[in-house]
Amino acid sequence: MQMKIEKKISKKTSVKKLRYLIQKHEASHLHYDFRLELDGVLKSWAIAKGPSIDSHVKRLAIEVEDHPLDYGNFEGVIPQGNYGGGTVMLWDKGTWQPLENPHKQLESGKLSFILHGQRLQGEWSLVLMRKDYDSGYGSGNRNNWLLIKKDDEFAKNGDEDKILQTQFTSVKTGRKMDEIAKEEK
Ligand code: MN
Repeated sequence: MQMKIEKKISKKTSVKKLRYLIQKHEASHLHYDFRLELDGVLKSWAIAKGPSIDSHVKRLAIEVEDHPLDYGNFEGVIPQGNYGGGTVMLWDKGTWQPLENPHKQLESGKLSFILHGQRLQGEWSLVLMRKDYDSGYGSGNRNNWLLIKKDDEFAKNGDEDKILQTQFTSVKTGRKMDEIAKEEK
């Protein structure tokens, strides 16, 4: 089964490995910052409910500002009163590979890619929703995408949120959120 994905990659994508990571961020609201390296920055989406490896589940992913590559190593506490004040955990990291030209895909509003993370793997897509879609997250100016797991050998249908509940430590330091919050103060 693994071969199927490898084949897809070699046929359609360059060999260049780009960074992928997720930071679990307990700010005013808990969310997961999903980041993909492109053109020397981290393209970023905030996912309130976190990723799901269930291919039937679509997760709202709000496009947010690009972040510097260096920020992808950050884990710790952003002081209250600052933008994004709260605890940040490196929840997953690895590399990603777009299945087609990533610039064209982003432009067209459908990005298909492979994740090689410690926790998330296999094929995924980010699909742009209509810009006037009312997500209930306020301003209609934001770009609302959906993060969807493709039904491949890495999908676990029926899992819904299990991966978020069972994988609750840092891939960088092994710490839990409250341990990061305490130790960094
Ligand atoms: Mn955040």
